[in-house]
Amino acid sequence: MASARRGRAATAGRQHAEVLAALAAGILGPDATPEVPGRVLATLDQLASPRDRDQLLAILRLLATRAGALTLTGRPAPLPGLTPEQAEAVVQRWQESRWAVQRRLASALIAATLTAVYAWPGPALERTGYPGPLGPAPDEPRRLDPITVTADEELACDVVVVGSGAGGGTVAAGLAEAGLDVVVLEKGGYHAEADFTHAEHEANRDLYLYGLTLATTDLGCRILAGSTLGGGTVVNYSTSFATPDFVLAEWARVSGVEAFVSGEVQASLDAVAGRLGVTTGASRPGARDALMEKGLAALGWHCAPLPRNVRGCPQDAGCGWCGMGCRHGAKQSTMRTYLEDAAARGTRIVVGADVRRVLINDARAVGVEARANGHRLRVRAKAVAAAAGAVETPALLLRSGLAGQVGRHLHLHPGTAAFGLFDEDARFWEGTLQARYSAELRDTLGEYAPTLETVPVHPGIGSAAVPWASATGHRALMDRFANLSLCATLTRDTSSGRVRTDREGNPRVLYKLNATDERHVAAGLAACGRVLAAAGAKEIMSLHPRRHTFRPSEPDAFQAWADAVRQTGFGGGRITLFSYHQMGSCRMGTDPATSAVDADHQTHQVKNLYVADSSVFPTASGVNPMLSVMGLAHRAAGRIAAQLA
Ligand SMILES: Cc1cc2nc3c(=O)[nH]c(=O)nc-3n(C[C@H](O)[C@H](O)[C@H](O)COP(=O)(O)OP(=O)(O)OC[C@H]3O[C@@H](n4cnc5c(N)ncnc54)[C@H](O)[C@@H]3O)c2cc1C
Repeated sequence: MASARRGRAATAGRQHAEVLAALAAGILGPDATPEVPGRVLATLDQLASPRDRDQLLAILRLLATRAGALTLTGRPAPLPGLTPEQAEAVVQRWQESRWAVQRRLASALIAATLTAVYAWPGPALERTGYPGPLGPAPDEPRRLDPITVTADEELACDVVVVGSGAGGGTVAAGLAEAGLDVVVLEKGGYHAEADFTHAEHEANRDLYLYGLTLATTDLGCRILAGSTLGGGTVVNYSTSFATPDFVLAEWARVSGVEAFVSGEVQASLDAVAGRLGVTTGASRPGARDALMEKGLAALGWHCAPLPRNVRGCPQDAGCGWCGMGCRHGAKQSTMRTYLEDAAARGTRIVVGADVRRVLINDARAVGVEARANGHRLRVRAKAVAAAAGAVETPALLLRSGLAGQVGRHLHLHPGTAAFGLFDEDARFWEGTLQARYSAELRDTLGEYAPTLETVPVHPGIGSAAVPWASATGHRALMDRFANLSLCATLTRDTSSGRVRTDREGNPRVLYKLNATDERHVAAGLAACGRVLAAAGAKEIMSLHPRRHTFRPSEPDAFQAWADAVRQTGFGGGRITLFSYHQMGSCRMGTDPATSAVDADHQTHQVKNLYVADSSVFPTASGVNPMLSVMGLAHRAAGRIAAQLA
């Protein structure tokens, strides 16, 4: 019996590997290596829902059979027997298919396969001109001493904080400062300067939520979030906007919470900006920001330096790697600031602790239960502050039995970019993380207008963004990777999605772009095309799989491109959008019919259960949200401490 099971598992394993190898040959051409199937399978193991992984594996097994191949490719030819050209044609047909399932299959497999080559050292990566990690990580001493659980354990404290990112780190420090005994539980590990290898495949696995595999259920938007001690603040791009006044005014209107406009939230925003050393004096643009600035200047458009939370940032070519952790310790993440403050006041920090549920007694939170290194960890507390981020906090609350508005009103700031090919090297992976932005479109589109920024693009994630229409075409573009630069657009979304949970309590993110936002994404992308053209790009493309390009030197080419891009559209997986900002899924408000937490951050349904992260935003922040999250978490600490006093 057991040996039969082992035999079936071995057959299945062989089928997965053979089908993935055939697909890799089709997607990568001569760059396919024997390691690709194993790397793709390891990526699938990190998916939020094991059910999704199992479904994908079942499809791979079907593709190894005649009947399955007939159903999924239209021809009774098992994938392992196909030539690379035939496998490429299968993927191309899936991409163009009328069936969303086939388009999603293509999108998932193309991204995973390309990343399995370009996020790793090897000949393909070398051809891009990418210098790879710039030497080993520094031999810096660790400044924190978190606890790792080695047996079933029970702790007790005043407040247990779930998550250690922008919200969690800040609220923990505030609570500790108020004299409370705090325990922080972080699902990720402790990775400090000495661990930042800057190898993309390692950073994805160690620093990002679900190894960077998270996406909306229709795969229309990839969701990037940090998952390490310090959360998003360790991997983020250091842009530190205070919440704009027009957003605070809207939040007060939507939520009925006066604090947004009374000066109370503003005081907290000022306090966190001070602690993080936010400055516009450390925004020396690298090549890609300089190109965006040049384009904006040529058009006479708005362009300004970005405020950043750094101290002693070199702002040089080595800086673009800090999305995989800042080796200089210049980025003022919560790991370098608030968590140190909290630890200095006795806060206990536990890493590798995945909180599975809030313990609730008589509609009051009394602690949490976590899985930690295969052990059970219980923390008894007078209050629980959930700060696991706008995807994980609602998932935690839902699996703890809360309902109502929990998980609704999720905003993603859906982003995309135009990529431009320049004659000169732009090396768009390097230089100050983010240095310039443009709010030009606010004049015409108002408070929900998209903004323009750049982001550092490394070959692993970049290869999945560069349009794939054929192995040769993609390879040719990757060979010119060093000549690419980008202008990105982030839309302040009016669309709202929803976080639900699967049967095991893992998050599923549902999100559909509405017509207004689709128009705004189109306007933002058209603006990006104009900026790159004005900056001197020779050829400009959107990131749609069906390649839309234009050469600024050709008359009327821009308008034809902008029209074609708009007609192809952005919703329903026609393009993969990127979300770096998740917000609003447990929003604050005075009315339980439209909000999940009250003005004190306490859930309407369970006493002593607070939310102190990006989930509480009443609407999308419009600007990069870190400082807003921290400002609100700073205020939350005061409210929680006052209630426990
Ligand atoms: C690549 C990138 C670049 C960005 N750049 C910027 C920028 O320049 N400026 C800006 O303003 N914003 C930026 N952001 C967004 C910003 O970092 C986030 O909005 C912010 O960190 C959100 O704060 P949070 O507290 O809600 O969640 P996070 O900071 O994501 O923290 C949540 C933490 O909770 C942990 N967690 C999750 N589930 C559990 C669980 N069950 N048990 C225990 N722990 C759990 C996670 O591992 C994570 O560490 C960027 C984000 C990314 C991913």
